[in-house]
Amino acid sequence: EYDAGGYMPVNIGDVLKGQYKVCRKLGWGHFSTVWLCKNLFEDGPMYVALKICKSAHMFAAVAQDEIKLLQETKTTDPNHPGYKHIVQMVDTFRLLSVNGIHTAISMEIMGPSLLHILIQSDFRGIHIDGVKKIIQQVLKGLTYLHDVCKIIHTDIKPENILIKVDQNYIRSIIGKTERFTELGLEMPRSYVTADCWVDRDRELKDSDEDILAKFEEQRGQSYPYDKFLIELTSFRERHSEPRLTSPMWVSPNIEIKIADLGNACWEDHHFSNEIQTRQYRALEVILGAGYSFPADIWSTGCMAFELATGEMLFSPKGDKDPSANLDHLCLIWETLGGIPQYITETGANVRQYFHNGRLKNIPESSLRVWKIEDVLVDKYKWKRVDAIPFAGFLESLVEPDPALRFTAAMALQSEWLMSKD
Ligand code: ATP
Ligand code: MG
Ligand code: MG
Repeated sequence: EYDAGGYMPVNIGDVLKGQYKVCRKLGWGHFSTVWLCKNLFEDGPMYVALKICKSAHMFAAVAQDEIKLLQETKTTDPNHPGYKHIVQMVDTFRLLSVNGIHTAISMEIMGPSLLHILIQSDFRGIHIDGVKKIIQQVLKGLTYLHDVCKIIHTDIKPENILIKVDQNYIRSIIGKTERFTELGLEMPRSYVTADCWVDRDRELKDSDEDILAKFEEQRGQSYPYDKFLIELTSFRERHSEPRLTSPMWVSPNIEIKIADLGNACWEDHHFSNEIQTRQYRALEVILGAGYSFPADIWSTGCMAFELATGEMLFSPKGDKDPSANLDHLCLIWETLGGIPQYITETGANVRQYFHNGRLKNIPESSLRVWKIEDVLVDKYKWKRVDAIPFAGFLESLVEPDPALRFTAAMALQSEWLMSKD
C-alpha cells in the first residue's frame, strides 16, 4: 500500500518538516503508519509518535475529523481527572511524498498496547489488581470523553489502549537505533516493521557477556563487544519468537491512555451506523437500534473480561453478516441468560434475528446458558467469592438495555472497582 494515495514512504533517519527525525516504526493501521520521532526543536516534547496518514482524499477527510476530535479533547478541560487518560495530540501538519499529500499528526509518545500485554501473558490474562487499575483509568478517560467532550470513542479494545512508558526507555530504544547508524550497519527489520515492543530475549536467557564468551571460545579469538551486540540482536531477530519485554509493563504503577480517535464521533453527529470491532460490538449496534456513550461501556466490559482471563468474552464465528450477528446474539443470550423481550423488539435488524422474543431458527434446546460467574468458576477456575463481584461488575457493563447500563461515572463508583484484596 506504499503507492499513490497510500502510505508515505518513510526511512529511518529522515527529518520531516525539518523538525522530526524518524527513529523507528511504532505501528500501523488501515489509515496510517506511526513512527517514533525525535523532536529536533526545543519546543514541545523531545519524543513524539508521528501518525502519517495515507494520502487519498478519503483518508485525508477522515484525518481531518480525527484532528477535530483530538482538538476537542486537548482543549476542553485539561484539569478533568480523565484528561490524562486520553492520548493527546501535539501538532498537525502536511507532508508531501511521491504518493501525494499526507496529513501528519504528532502525538505524545506511548508504549505497547494492552494487546501486547495479552500476547505476553500467552493469552492467560493479567493479575486482577492490574485489571482494576487499567479499567479504572479507561473509565476515567471515558467520563472525560463522554461527559465533557460529548465524544463516543466507538472502538474501545485492547489494541487501542496504550501503556505509558518512561522517557528513559524511549531514549534507550533511540540509542540502539543510533548505534546502528554510527557503525554503518543495516537496521534490523523489526525497526521498520513496528516490532518496537517485542522482546526476542526471553528464550535466550544467558547474559550478553555469557554469549559473547561462548562465541569467542568457539572462534578461538576475541571479538569487539559493540559489534557483537549488534550481531546478537540480529541473530535474535532471526531466531526467536517475538515476545514482549519484561513484566514491568504490568507494574503496580501502570498508567494507560485511550488512543485512536480515528473512528470516534460526536454524540450528535455520527459518521457510521456500523461501529466497533466485532467482538466488542454492543448489542444495540448489532440490532441497529441506535447507539451513544453506552456502546463504549459495553466494549469496556468485554475488555475487562479479556484482560482478566486472556480470552474474549464474545467471539462469534465468521465475520459475514447475518451469520456472524446471529452467532453473536446466541453468545450474548447464553452469557447473559437471555435478552429481555422488549430489547428484541426495537432496532432496524430485530426482525431478521428475533420472533416473539426468541432467536429465529435457533431451538431453545440448542442454547446453553452459561453465565459469567459460572464461566469464571468452571472454565477459569476462579474461586466463587472472587467470581461473584467481578461477574456482577461485568454484568452492569454488558447490560442489554443501554438505558440501564452503567455510565462510566457509575462504573467508577462500583463496589468491585473500589474493593482492595
Ligand atoms: P486503525 O486501523 O486501528 O484505525 P490507524 O491507521 O488509525 O489504525 P492508529 O490505530 O492510530 O492508526 O495507530 C496505529 C498503531 O500505532 C497503534 O495500534 C499503536 O501500536 C501505534 N500508536 C498509535 N499512536 C501511538 C502513540 N501515541 N504512541 C505509541 N504508539 C502509537
Ligand atoms: Mg487503531
Ligand atoms: Mg484509526
